[in-house]
Amino acid sequence: MSIFGSGGKEARFWKVDGDRVRCELCPHFCKIAEGKSGICNVRKNSKGKLHTLIYGKITSMTPDPIEKKPLFHFHPGTSVLSFGSVGCNYSCPFCQNYSISQAKPENAYLRDLKPESVVPAVKKSGCAGVAWTYNEPTIWHEFAYDCSKLVKEAGYYSVYVTNGYINEEPLREIAPYLDAMNVDLKSLKDDFYQKMCKAKVQPVLDTIVLGKELGIHIELTNLVIPGENDKKEDFEELINWVVENVGLDVPMHFSRFHPDYKMLDKPRTPLKTLELAFRIAKDAGLKYVYVGNIPTNDRENTFCPNCGNLVIERWGFSISKNNLDGDKCKKCGGKVDIVT
Ligand code: SF4
Repeated sequence: MSIFGSGGKEARFWKVDGDRVRCELCPHFCKIAEGKSGICNVRKNSKGKLHTLIYGKITSMTPDPIEKKPLFHFHPGTSVLSFGSVGCNYSCPFCQNYSISQAKPENAYLRDLKPESVVPAVKKSGCAGVAWTYNEPTIWHEFAYDCSKLVKEAGYYSVYVTNGYINEEPLREIAPYLDAMNVDLKSLKDDFYQKMCKAKVQPVLDTIVLGKELGIHIELTNLVIPGENDKKEDFEELINWVVENVGLDVPMHFSRFHPDYKMLDKPRTPLKTLELAFRIAKDAGLKYVYVGNIPTNDRENTFCPNCGNLVIERWGFSISKNNLDGDKCKKCGGKVDIVT
Protein backbone atom coordinates (compact mmCIF):
# COMPACT_ATOMS: atom_id res chain seq x y z
CA MET A 1 0.00 0.00 0.00
CA SER A 2 1.31 3.49 -0.76
CA ILE A 3 2.18 5.82 2.11
CA PHE A 4 -0.91 7.89 1.24
CA GLY A 5 -3.21 4.89 1.21
CA SER A 6 -1.91 3.83 4.60
CA GLY A 7 -2.35 7.37 6.02
CA GLY A 8 1.39 8.13 6.21
CA LYS A 9 3.67 7.98 9.27
CA GLU A 10 2.36 8.90 12.69
CA ALA A 11 3.13 12.53 13.45
CA ARG A 12 4.42 14.14 16.64
CA PHE A 13 2.80 17.12 18.42
CA TRP A 14 -0.90 16.31 18.45
CA LYS A 15 -3.70 15.39 20.86
CA VAL A 16 -7.11 13.77 20.66
CA ASP A 17 -9.78 16.47 20.88
CA GLY A 18 -13.27 14.94 21.09
CA ASP A 19 -13.89 13.14 17.82
CA ARG A 20 -11.04 15.08 16.14
CA VAL A 21 -7.30 15.38 16.50
CA ARG A 22 -5.66 18.69 17.32
CA CYS A 23 -2.32 19.33 15.63
CA GLU A 24 0.09 21.30 17.80
CA LEU A 25 2.96 21.71 15.37
CA CYS A 26 2.10 25.23 14.26
CA PRO A 27 0.01 28.12 15.63
CA HIS A 28 -3.00 27.19 13.49
CA PHE A 29 -3.74 24.33 15.93
CA CYS A 30 -5.96 22.64 13.32
CA LYS A 31 -8.73 20.44 14.70
CA ILE A 32 -8.93 17.74 12.10
CA ALA A 33 -11.82 15.36 11.51
CA GLU A 34 -11.35 11.71 10.55
CA GLY A 35 -10.04 11.37 7.00
CA LYS A 36 -9.31 15.12 6.67
CA SER A 37 -6.05 17.09 6.55
CA GLY A 38 -5.00 20.33 8.22
CA ILE A 39 -4.50 23.70 6.54
CA CYS A 40 -1.04 22.64 5.32
CA ASN A 41 -2.54 19.62 3.46
CA VAL A 42 0.19 17.29 4.73
CA ARG A 43 -1.03 16.22 8.18
CA LYS A 44 -4.04 13.96 8.20
CA ASN A 45 -6.35 12.38 10.75
CA SER A 46 -6.24 8.72 9.90
CA LYS A 47 -8.20 6.41 12.19
CA GLY A 48 -8.06 8.90 15.06
CA LYS A 49 -4.31 9.51 14.87
CA LEU A 50 -2.44 12.38 13.23
CA HIS A 51 -0.16 11.30 10.40
CA THR A 52 2.38 13.15 8.30
CA LEU A 53 1.94 12.43 4.60
CA ILE A 54 5.36 13.74 3.57
CA TYR A 55 7.82 11.83 5.76
CA GLY A 56 10.62 10.84 3.34
CA LYS A 57 8.77 12.35 0.39
CA ILE A 58 10.64 14.91 -1.66
CA THR A 59 9.97 16.97 -4.77
CA SER A 60 13.55 18.16 -5.17
CA MET A 61 17.14 17.66 -4.06
CA THR A 62 19.53 20.22 -5.55
CA PRO A 63 22.87 21.76 -4.60
CA ASP A 64 22.59 25.55 -4.23
CA PRO A 65 24.92 28.30 -3.09
CA ILE A 66 24.10 29.12 0.54
CA GLU A 67 23.81 32.75 -0.63
CA LYS A 68 20.68 31.78 -2.59
CA LYS A 69 18.64 31.01 0.55
CA PRO A 70 19.57 33.89 1.27
CA LEU A 71 22.05 33.30 4.07
CA PHE A 72 24.94 35.75 3.66
CA HIS A 73 26.53 35.42 7.09
CA PHE A 74 26.60 31.66 7.40
CA HIS A 75 29.48 29.68 5.89
CA PRO A 76 29.74 32.06 2.92
CA GLY A 77 30.76 30.51 -0.38
CA THR A 78 29.64 26.99 0.54
CA SER A 79 27.13 24.86 -1.34
CA VAL A 80 24.14 23.41 0.41
CA LEU A 81 22.11 20.38 -0.63
CA SER A 82 18.56 21.71 -0.74
CA PHE A 83 15.49 19.56 -0.17
CA GLY A 84 11.84 20.39 -0.74
CA SER A 85 8.56 18.53 -0.41
CA VAL A 86 4.98 19.83 -0.72
CA GLY A 87 2.65 21.87 1.47
CA CYS A 88 2.63 25.09 3.44
CA ASN A 89 0.77 26.46 6.45
CA TYR A 90 0.32 29.79 4.61
CA SER A 91 -1.56 30.47 1.39
CA CYS A 92 0.10 33.68 0.15
CA PRO A 93 -1.27 34.85 -3.21
CA PHE A 94 2.25 35.94 -4.26
CA CYS A 95 4.01 32.63 -3.55
CA GLN A 96 6.78 31.94 -6.06
CA ASN A 97 6.79 28.24 -5.20
CA TYR A 98 3.02 27.75 -5.27
CA SER A 99 3.21 24.68 -7.51
CA ILE A 100 4.66 22.75 -4.57
CA SER A 101 3.62 24.86 -1.57
CA GLN A 102 -0.08 24.67 -2.40
CA ALA A 103 -0.02 21.12 -3.79
CA LYS A 104 -1.59 18.16 -2.04
CA PRO A 105 0.68 15.12 -1.55
CA GLU A 106 -1.68 12.83 -3.44
CA ASN A 107 -1.47 15.07 -6.54
CA ALA A 108 2.26 15.71 -6.49
CA TYR A 109 5.16 13.78 -7.97
CA LEU A 110 7.06 12.76 -4.84
CA ARG A 111 10.19 10.68 -4.66
CA ASP A 112 11.14 8.53 -1.68
CA LEU A 113 14.14 9.41 0.44
CA LYS A 114 15.21 7.58 3.58
CA PRO A 115 16.79 9.64 6.39
CA GLU A 116 19.89 7.42 6.26
CA SER A 117 20.37 8.32 2.58
CA VAL A 118 20.71 12.05 3.31
CA VAL A 119 24.26 12.09 4.73
CA PRO A 120 25.67 9.97 1.85
CA ALA A 121 23.91 12.32 -0.60
CA VAL A 122 25.51 15.35 1.06
CA LYS A 123 28.95 13.68 0.98
CA LYS A 124 28.56 12.79 -2.69
CA SER A 125 27.42 16.30 -3.61
CA GLY A 126 30.42 17.96 -1.95
CA CYS A 127 28.05 20.29 -0.09
CA ALA A 128 28.73 21.56 3.43
CA GLY A 129 25.23 20.96 4.72
CA VAL A 130 21.52 20.67 3.97
CA ALA A 131 18.75 23.21 3.53
CA TRP A 132 15.09 22.48 4.12
CA THR A 133 13.55 24.88 1.69
CA TYR A 134 11.36 25.44 -1.44
CA ASN A 135 8.18 24.61 0.50
CA GLU A 136 7.70 25.38 4.20
CA PRO A 137 10.05 23.12 6.22
CA THR A 138 8.40 23.50 9.63
CA ILE A 139 5.41 21.37 8.51
CA TRP A 140 7.92 18.66 7.50
CA HIS A 141 9.09 18.55 11.10
CA GLU A 142 9.42 14.81 11.74
CA PHE A 143 11.53 14.20 8.63
CA ALA A 144 13.57 17.40 8.89
CA TYR A 145 14.27 16.60 12.56
CA ASP A 146 15.37 13.01 11.96
CA CYS A 147 17.59 14.00 9.03
CA SER A 148 19.05 17.14 10.64
CA LYS A 149 20.11 15.06 13.62
CA LEU A 150 21.99 12.62 11.38
CA VAL A 151 23.44 15.48 9.34
CA LYS A 152 24.72 17.26 12.44
CA GLU A 153 26.22 14.06 13.86
CA ALA A 154 28.10 13.61 10.58
CA GLY A 155 29.61 17.10 10.89
CA TYR A 156 27.48 18.99 8.39
CA TYR A 157 25.14 21.93 8.94
CA SER A 158 21.38 22.12 8.57
CA VAL A 159 19.34 25.25 7.77
CA TYR A 160 15.70 26.27 7.37
CA VAL A 161 14.26 28.77 4.93
CA THR A 162 11.02 29.38 6.75
CA ASN A 163 7.98 31.54 7.39
CA GLY A 164 8.63 31.03 11.10
CA TYR A 165 5.14 29.67 11.80
CA ILE A 166 6.00 26.96 14.29
CA ASN A 167 5.13 26.42 17.94
CA GLU A 168 7.65 26.66 20.73
CA GLU A 169 7.93 22.97 21.62
CA PRO A 170 8.83 21.68 18.13
CA LEU A 171 11.20 24.60 17.62
CA ARG A 172 12.96 23.76 20.88
CA GLU A 173 13.10 20.12 19.82
CA ILE A 174 14.85 20.76 16.50
CA ALA A 175 17.02 23.69 17.67
CA PRO A 176 20.07 21.59 18.71
CA TYR A 177 20.25 20.26 15.14
CA LEU A 178 19.34 23.44 13.30
CA ASP A 179 22.25 25.78 12.67
CA ALA A 180 20.60 28.66 10.83
CA MET A 181 17.25 29.99 9.70
CA ASN A 182 16.29 32.61 7.19
CA VAL A 183 12.90 33.75 8.48
CA ASP A 184 10.44 35.67 6.31
CA LEU A 185 9.25 38.66 8.26
CA LYS A 186 6.63 39.95 5.88
CA SER A 187 5.25 42.79 7.96
CA LEU A 188 4.70 43.83 11.55
CA LYS A 189 0.98 44.17 10.90
CA ASP A 190 -1.45 41.45 11.84
CA ASP A 191 -3.83 42.74 9.13
CA PHE A 192 -1.21 41.95 6.50
CA TYR A 193 -0.66 38.44 7.86
CA GLN A 194 -4.42 37.79 8.11
CA LYS A 195 -5.14 39.05 4.60
CA MET A 196 -2.15 37.59 2.76
CA CYS A 197 -1.17 34.48 4.69
CA LYS A 198 -4.30 33.61 6.74
CA ALA A 199 -1.99 33.70 9.74
CA LYS A 200 -0.92 35.94 12.62
CA VAL A 201 2.27 37.91 13.05
CA GLN A 202 3.02 37.32 16.75
CA PRO A 203 4.05 33.64 16.42
CA VAL A 204 6.56 34.64 13.72
CA LEU A 205 8.08 37.25 16.01
CA ASP A 206 8.21 34.69 18.82
CA THR A 207 10.06 32.22 16.56
CA ILE A 208 12.66 34.83 15.64
CA VAL A 209 13.32 35.79 19.25
CA LEU A 210 13.32 32.18 20.53
CA GLY A 211 15.44 30.97 17.60
CA LYS A 212 18.10 33.52 18.46
CA GLU A 213 17.89 32.65 22.16
CA LEU A 214 18.39 28.97 21.29
CA GLY A 215 21.60 29.79 19.43
CA ILE A 216 20.30 29.41 15.88
CA HIS A 217 21.93 31.85 13.45
CA ILE A 218 19.10 34.10 12.19
CA GLU A 219 18.76 36.18 9.03
CA LEU A 220 15.54 37.98 8.09
CA THR A 221 13.89 38.57 4.73
CA ASN A 222 11.22 41.16 4.02
CA LEU A 223 9.51 40.82 0.64
CA VAL A 224 8.46 44.34 -0.32
CA ILE A 225 5.10 44.29 -2.13
CA PRO A 226 3.87 47.50 -3.75
CA GLY A 227 0.78 48.87 -2.00
CA GLU A 228 0.82 46.20 0.72
CA ASN A 229 3.83 46.64 3.01
CA ASP A 230 5.93 49.30 1.29
CA LYS A 231 5.19 52.52 3.18
CA LYS A 232 7.90 54.40 5.06
CA GLU A 233 6.01 53.71 8.31
CA ASP A 234 5.90 49.96 7.49
CA PHE A 235 9.68 49.84 7.18
CA GLU A 236 10.17 51.98 10.30
CA GLU A 237 7.86 49.78 12.37
CA LEU A 238 9.54 46.59 11.17
CA ILE A 239 13.07 47.86 11.67
CA ASN A 240 12.29 49.27 15.12
CA TRP A 241 11.06 45.85 16.17
CA VAL A 242 14.18 44.17 14.75
CA VAL A 243 16.50 46.62 16.50
CA GLU A 244 14.73 46.22 19.85
CA ASN A 245 14.19 42.47 19.75
CA VAL A 246 16.89 40.91 17.61
CA GLY A 247 19.69 43.46 17.63
CA LEU A 248 21.86 45.38 15.21
CA ASP A 249 23.89 42.33 14.13
CA VAL A 250 21.11 40.45 12.37
CA PRO A 251 21.46 40.41 8.57
CA MET A 252 18.35 42.01 7.04
CA HIS A 253 17.40 41.23 3.43
CA PHE A 254 14.85 43.32 1.54
CA SER A 255 13.61 41.39 -1.43
CA ARG A 256 12.04 42.70 -4.63
CA PHE A 257 8.53 41.50 -5.44
CA HIS A 258 7.82 39.98 -8.86
CA PRO A 259 4.22 39.28 -9.94
CA ASP A 260 3.45 35.58 -9.53
CA TYR A 261 0.69 33.04 -8.75
CA LYS A 262 -2.52 34.95 -7.92
CA MET A 263 -0.89 38.34 -7.56
CA LEU A 264 -0.28 39.33 -11.14
CA ASP A 265 -1.84 42.78 -10.97
CA LYS A 266 0.99 44.45 -9.09
CA PRO A 267 4.21 45.84 -10.56
CA ARG A 268 7.69 44.85 -9.46
CA THR A 269 8.87 46.78 -6.44
CA PRO A 270 10.32 50.12 -7.58
CA LEU A 271 14.05 50.33 -6.90
CA LYS A 272 13.54 53.61 -5.04
CA THR A 273 11.25 51.84 -2.55
CA LEU A 274 13.93 49.23 -1.87
CA GLU A 275 16.46 52.01 -1.46
CA LEU A 276 14.15 53.68 1.08
CA ALA A 277 13.91 50.44 3.07
CA PHE A 278 17.69 50.02 2.91
CA ARG A 279 18.25 53.59 4.16
CA ILE A 280 15.80 53.29 7.04
CA ALA A 281 17.48 50.08 8.20
CA LYS A 282 20.98 51.53 7.91
CA ASP A 283 19.98 54.78 9.65
CA ALA A 284 18.51 52.72 12.51
CA GLY A 285 21.97 51.20 12.99
CA LEU A 286 21.56 47.74 11.43
CA LYS A 287 25.05 46.65 10.41
CA TYR A 288 24.22 44.29 7.56
CA VAL A 289 21.42 45.32 5.20
CA TYR A 290 20.92 43.81 1.74
CA VAL A 291 18.61 44.22 -1.22
CA GLY A 292 17.94 41.12 -3.29
CA ASN A 293 16.13 39.95 -6.42
CA ILE A 294 17.42 42.83 -8.54
CA PRO A 295 19.82 42.57 -11.51
CA THR A 296 23.00 44.57 -11.06
CA ASN A 297 23.34 45.09 -7.44
CA ASP A 298 25.93 46.60 -5.15
CA ARG A 299 23.52 46.21 -2.24
CA GLU A 300 24.53 42.59 -1.70
CA ASN A 301 28.05 43.25 -0.46
CA THR A 302 29.19 43.06 3.15
CA PHE A 303 31.23 45.81 4.75
CA CYS A 304 33.24 45.68 7.95
CA PRO A 305 31.13 47.39 10.64
CA ASN A 306 34.34 48.61 12.26
CA CYS A 307 36.32 50.22 9.40
CA GLY A 308 33.88 50.14 6.47
CA ASN A 309 36.16 47.97 4.31
CA LEU A 310 34.48 45.75 1.72
CA VAL A 311 34.82 42.28 3.24
CA ILE A 312 32.64 40.17 0.95
CA GLU A 313 31.81 41.16 -2.61
CA ARG A 314 29.02 39.13 -4.22
CA TRP A 315 28.10 38.68 -7.82
CA GLY A 316 24.78 36.95 -8.23
CA PHE A 317 24.97 34.04 -5.81
CA SER A 318 28.74 33.75 -5.90
CA ILE A 319 31.47 35.48 -3.98
CA SER A 320 33.86 37.49 -6.12
CA LYS A 321 36.06 38.83 -3.29
CA ASN A 322 36.60 37.68 0.26
CA ASN A 323 38.61 39.99 2.50
CA LEU A 324 37.95 38.06 5.68
CA ASP A 325 40.31 36.08 7.81
CA GLY A 326 37.87 33.74 9.53
CA ASP A 327 35.35 36.20 10.92
CA LYS A 328 37.84 39.10 11.10
CA CYS A 329 38.27 41.95 8.64
CA LYS A 330 41.67 41.59 6.95
CA LYS A 331 42.17 45.35 7.00
CA CYS A 332 41.43 46.28 10.62
CA GLY A 333 41.06 42.91 12.37
CA GLY A 334 37.57 43.90 13.55
CA LYS A 335 34.96 41.18 14.08
CA VAL A 336 32.35 40.68 11.39
CA ASP A 337 29.26 38.74 12.48
CA ILE A 338 29.70 35.78 10.20
CA VAL A 339 29.52 32.08 11.05
CA THR A 340 32.47 30.37 9.38
S1 SF4 B 1 1.14 21.96 10.89
FE1 SF4 B 1 -0.55 21.78 9.41
S2 SF4 B 1 -2.08 20.52 10.41
FE2 SF4 B 1 -0.65 21.18 11.99
S3 SF4 B 1 -1.60 23.02 12.87
FE3 SF4 B 1 -0.20 23.69 11.27
S4 SF4 B 1 -1.42 23.86 9.39
FE4 SF4 B 1 -2.60 22.65 10.88
